[in-house]
Amino acid sequence: MGVRTPGELVERGLATPAQAGALAPVVDRYRMQVDDYYLGLIDPDDPDDPIRRQALPDVAELVESAGELRDPIGDSVHAAAPQLVHRYRDRVLFFPTFLCPMYCRYCFRKVALNEAPVRLDDVLSGAVAYVAAHPEVREVILSGGDPLLLSDDRLDRVLGAFGALPNVERLRIHSRVPVTRPSRVDAGLVATLARHRPLFVVTHFNHPRELTPVAEAGVRALVDAGITVLNQAVLLRGVNADAETLAALFGGLLRWQVRPYYLHHLDMTVGTQHFRVSLRDGLSLVRSLRGRLSGLAWPTYVLDIPGGGGKVPVDSDFVRAEPQRGVYTLVGPQGGRWRYVDPAEHPAGFEGHPPGAERLP
Ligand code: SF4
Repeated sequence: MGVRTPGELVERGLATPAQAGALAPVVDRYRMQVDDYYLGLIDPDDPDDPIRRQALPDVAELVESAGELRDPIGDSVHAAAPQLVHRYRDRVLFFPTFLCPMYCRYCFRKVALNEAPVRLDDVLSGAVAYVAAHPEVREVILSGGDPLLLSDDRLDRVLGAFGALPNVERLRIHSRVPVTRPSRVDAGLVATLARHRPLFVVTHFNHPRELTPVAEAGVRALVDAGITVLNQAVLLRGVNADAETLAALFGGLLRWQVRPYYLHHLDMTVGTQHFRVSLRDGLSLVRSLRGRLSGLAWPTYVLDIPGGGGKVPVDSDFVRAEPQRGVYTLVGPQGGRWRYVDPAEHPAGFEGHPPGAERLP
């Protein structure tokens, strides 16, 4: 059942009628959906609960801050075919759906998710033909939306179509289903996925309270089926931006044999300023974990250069702090340089430069 409207939040005791009224324009702009399972993880007595912050709308989403973008990582810049993005030479992203089991309030595709639904049958053959015509593509990543919302049969068809191409060496799926709707990870789904190895499933646990026994059962079933499971988390103010929380999250994932893969710096998506952590604080947080966690538990802390410049490790030569506090030079993975004015430190810009990334000559 779950909730989809502010009125249902009132019925569940998660909002007052006045709050629900204020949330109506938020939900009109960015859809809401939360299953009973994930609602059950919320502490109803804590207005700042980290699970609540990820799942339930906030009027702060209506604020569009300087430098925020509708397409922050430049999917449209790199679109190569309908619902297919070719950003890096050897891999493509394919979006078989824009539906999700839950609409995360910080999502970098939150605008795209509110656009017209994908009709898989209209786009699959074009996407497969594109990959077939580009032998440099070695990996196909299903993203979205959440690919694990497809039926087993449709998923089998999509994975089979890409996996049959001689140039495709591996398949990857990005999914938050194991976190927000773990009951979907049933025997039928696991058997379907296992037919398409080598397959990598990248989950998206952000907080240790998401590591429940039900989620564990799903993840362990994937691991037992020979599927490599990795996790990407997003660094979010008010959710996981402290060392204790991240250490518990990464340690818990390792106990399930899930390797923490990426920790993403929050993208410059419209209406997400209330989740933003500065790059400086993020770096110091990640470095503080180095001494206390096994190297297996360290994800790579990455930043997607706003506008489509590509993903770069923050703690590397790709990101150089300038003498002015909160200003950085970014070097793109495929060339190019950008000035990055950290919106968490300079929300109104710095010395005439807007927050976000500006390409340098
Ligand atoms: S599940 Fe992924 S794509 Fe869907 S809203 Fe959450 S972060 Fe965005």
